Amino acid sequence: MTLVFASNNAHKLDEVRRILHPIVVASMAEVGCIADIVEDGTTLEANSHIKADFLWRWLVEHDKADSYDGVIADDTGLEIEALGGEPGVYTARWAGEPACDAKNRAKALRELQDNENRNAKFRTVITLIRKDAGEEQMSGIVKGIIGTEEHGERGFGYDSLFIPDGYDKTFAELPEEVKNSISHRARALQILRNKLL
Ligand code: IMP
Repeated sequence: MTLVFASNNAHKLDEVRRILHPIVVASMAEVGCIADIVEDGTTLEANSHIKADFLWRWLVEHDKADSYDGVIADDTGLEIEALGGEPGVYTARWAGEPACDAKNRAKALRELQDNENRNAKFRTVITLIRKDAGEEQMSGIVKGIIGTEEHGERGFGYDSLFIPDGYDKTFAELPEEVKNSISHRARALQILRNKLL
């Protein structure tokens, strides 16, 4: 079974491939779709749909839809309790355009300063589109805290700041097998995997 993932983010692609194995996951670039999809929805559900729908239509228009079992897309938001759930759907571009992970992390530390409430959660919405089964969405959440400084070299995005509940290390310090068994994306993808295998 082969799915096409509506992303070219190498870190995400690696995570998705490990979690969905033995399902094969192709990137947009690998199927020849070079596009910067405009994510102008106001919810994670909407943006996840926009990405999957764009890719599915592209495959149909280019007579490639029959070569794959479906498409998937994900959209993730970080919700920080002390900031009223910000940045949420604006997580990728929180510190402005163009999106920059380092600036986003600096903003999180700046906004929280020495606030003692550092509770936060990541939420991912995955969209699956298959020709004969239509569109479905599934979500995954991981709760944790925002550290007071960056730690670790692994991962991407806010990983070096996020310490998942039950651990004393950030996602960027933990082995990738740990992140890929408890993360927001892993939880949503496990639902997808169980549905498809
Ligand atoms: P998107 O879902 O790719 O639009 O991601 C939204 C934002 O969340 C971006 O700033 C990503 O870097 C960040 N993000 C998504 N997934 C993760 C993750 O697993 N760890 C840390 N940051 C993430």
